Amino acid sequence: MKKNINYLCVHSGQLRDDKYGGATAPLYLSTAYDYRNPGTNLYPRYMNTPNQVALGEKMAALENTEAGLILASGMAAISAVFMSFLKTGDHIILQRAIYGGTAHFAAAEFKNTGIEFTMVERINEENLQKALRPNTKMIYVETPSNPLLELVDLEVVSAFAKANKLKSVIDNTFASPVNQTPADFGIDIIIHSATKYLGGHSDITAGTVSGSQQDIDRVWNTAKNYGGSISDQTAWMLDRSIKTLGLRVKKQSKNAKKLAKFLELHPLIRKVNYPGLPSHPDYEIATNQMKGYGGMLSFELKSSVKTDKFLEALNLIQPALSLAGVESTILAPSLTSHSLLTPEQRAEQGISDDLLRLSVGIEEVDLLINDIEQAMEKSTK
Ligand SMILES: *Cc1c(COP(=O)(O)O)cnc(C)c1O
Repeated sequence: MKKNINYLCVHSGQLRDDKYGGATAPLYLSTAYDYRNPGTNLYPRYMNTPNQVALGEKMAALENTEAGLILASGMAAISAVFMSFLKTGDHIILQRAIYGGTAHFAAAEFKNTGIEFTMVERINEENLQKALRPNTKMIYVETPSNPLLELVDLEVVSAFAKANKLKSVIDNTFASPVNQTPADFGIDIIIHSATKYLGGHSDITAGTVSGSQQDIDRVWNTAKNYGGSISDQTAWMLDRSIKTLGLRVKKQSKNAKKLAKFLELHPLIRKVNYPGLPSHPDYEIATNQMKGYGGMLSFELKSSVKTDKFLEALNLIQPALSLAGVESTILAPSLTSHSLLTPEQRAEQGISDDLLRLSVGIEEVDLLINDIEQAMEKSTK
């Protein structure tokens, strides 16, 4: 029988309590272990303590890869992957619509280390060919993207990477392994900010990398030099959180789909971005490569609604940075995640001042719809 997602969330990479038979994983806090027996030379920064290793196995199982590694944050995972496979003089192709922190890393650290990079606006075969150089070593994408929920065709990326001997890397944070397993499409390395869906309760910072044993060994070798290892308490918490990942994300995806349909028909909404709407330009790609369409959406209010008043009038949906918690949260990208861009750059990228990004929680969807309706009523000019 094919193991389903909830089974994997609960049982894969599970550390057993052999001594007392407890139902949950024991937590090993030691930073010092007896070095005299084989296999006991453990140290947290080497990411080889029992809780760290078990969680790595869980992430490998969830992403359908050979191996997994857990780090202290999404950016620790992203930077470790970059610095493991790229050196001075190499070139990387990045999707333009990537997480702000990743874009900042490229602008600052690639520049400092002499790694060349090209940002591609729309990832397709033609644009990738144009960006390719003799020294290109990696292609890096994020799908669905933030905040416009644009999709990248993983089959195109993986075929291009294989044809040109590049490492293909994806930030799979928005989809989560419940809705998308990129290794099944031939992507080499899968990264998560576990601060988002994997943690899911807005109380954990962590990052994960999944891939072949060989690739994970290479990332491990670099990552231990940078020292961005996760604490065992956080690893234990993350393991506990992932047990409900399947349940949470399925409910969030179901809610988001209903909410997107409601918003699309609403007379005070100009536009809804959700890959599960047939009107979404990438709907076919989404249907082909995602198991569910996810819990993230964005929308633009018509100018008759005042955006700041609307946010103020919400009772249940909470304005907040970050995303993917069990509670619904909302933000204006122009004032937060994309505030460092000039208004012209934002316009170029399709991010208007009226755009709101909604991270849909597990509440009853009718409550979310009611909250949006009453807030619109209070904020119509
Ligand atoms: C939050 C986020 C990151 C960075 O993760 P941290 O845990 O904050 O370091 C990377 N990618 C995406 C898509 C994110 O949402």
